Amino acid sequence: MACINNNFLKIHESYLFTEIAHKVANYKASHPEASVISLGIGDVTRPLCPTVIQALHKAVDEMASGETFRGYGPEHGYKFLIQTIIKHDYNSRGISLDDEEVFISDGAKSDLGNIGDLFDFGNVIAVTDPVYPVYVDSNVMAGRAGIMGKDGHWSNIVYLPCCSENKFVPELPTTVPDIIYLCYPNNPTGTTLTKTQLKVWVDYAREHGVLILFDSAYEAFITEPDVPHSIYEIPGAKDVAIEFRSFSKTAGFTGLRCGYTVVPKTVTASTSDGSRIALNHLWNRRQCTKFNGTAYIVQRAAEAIYSEQGQKEIKENIAYYLLNAKIIRDGLSYEGMKVYGGVNAPYIWAKTPDGVDSWSFFDKVLTKCNVVVTPGVGFGPQGEGYVRLTAFGSRENCVEAVKRFAKL
Ligand code: PLP
Repeated sequence: MACINNNFLKIHESYLFTEIAHKVANYKASHPEASVISLGIGDVTRPLCPTVIQALHKAVDEMASGETFRGYGPEHGYKFLIQTIIKHDYNSRGISLDDEEVFISDGAKSDLGNIGDLFDFGNVIAVTDPVYPVYVDSNVMAGRAGIMGKDGHWSNIVYLPCCSENKFVPELPTTVPDIIYLCYPNNPTGTTLTKTQLKVWVDYAREHGVLILFDSAYEAFITEPDVPHSIYEIPGAKDVAIEFRSFSKTAGFTGLRCGYTVVPKTVTASTSDGSRIALNHLWNRRQCTKFNGTAYIVQRAAEAIYSEQGQKEIKENIAYYLLNAKIIRDGLSYEGMKVYGGVNAPYIWAKTPDGVDSWSFFDKVLTKCNVVVTPGVGFGPQGEGYVRLTAFGSRENCVEAVKRFAKL
């Protein structure tokens, strides 16, 4: 008899975005004349840039000829992409990496979910609150979260509150966890850590033997000089951190699917007898067993973004989204709302007025302005009283949505 993993039953059935879609569908059904604008989506809307399209076409043609056809590729990615990533994303910032330390994948979400395969169920994880839900849910599935309390927190997870009072900079935990997830620039708050602030975490991890899982899916949106693009810009991080990157928001690959994970050979974790084992070897073993590589044509497309023309084109798209972010940010501030993020990230985190809760404000914005935002509480209890707005829509929609906010 097949028995299920009971941990799956602990996960909330109603996923945040399903709930939102449901409410929006109901509203549209009863107000068919309403033109609803979504500032809730975390997906890009600009098409792939011409250089990427050319690279895709070329790679497709290669697949059509016996001499250039590619079947299974290396599980951890083609050298042409790995070496291009190392040169442009790391060497250019003074960070050296070996080819074997970079693992190409079909996106950061898979790697962030799968990395848990390497760790014992007894590990205590720490996450910020609010948080990108994948870190928490994947640990719930693995049985590491414990039970959900009335306060919306899992009993075995250490939470690091991020709110306006601490300027969204989490304080070091009082209970030492085994693994800490950090995401900067942050989804959902759009805020960042400076190099000095991130160093506090690296030093803490080194002192306590903690592993940091650093998600920098939004590093391409950084505009301020003191914000680190990679955790490896912090001395000593190569001993304690794994970094996750994605081409999704950087280059519009949300549908194409490509990302990569850096596991330095110097990062280790403890065995049950207390000796240390390199995680690079384990991750390689895991990927070779459960993953058969990212499509060749997709890896060629990813390589193309690093050419001079590719960089110019993807940066134009990022600048477009960042200007949307500024329009939303400035517009909401003008209406008297307190807003955060949106300078180094495509997300704006706004405090609801008069202490209104997130879902009530969501309903109000939907019905009065016909604009969809994401209730902050969906990202964790500390998100109560906030909403997230994204800059991934069209310019016209952002401008129109901001105008409509005046109705509030
Ligand atoms: N990490 C964060 C913080 C994200 O917001 C997202 C996507 O929204 C991802 C990772 C997933 O990226 P990918 O599309 O590469 O799976």
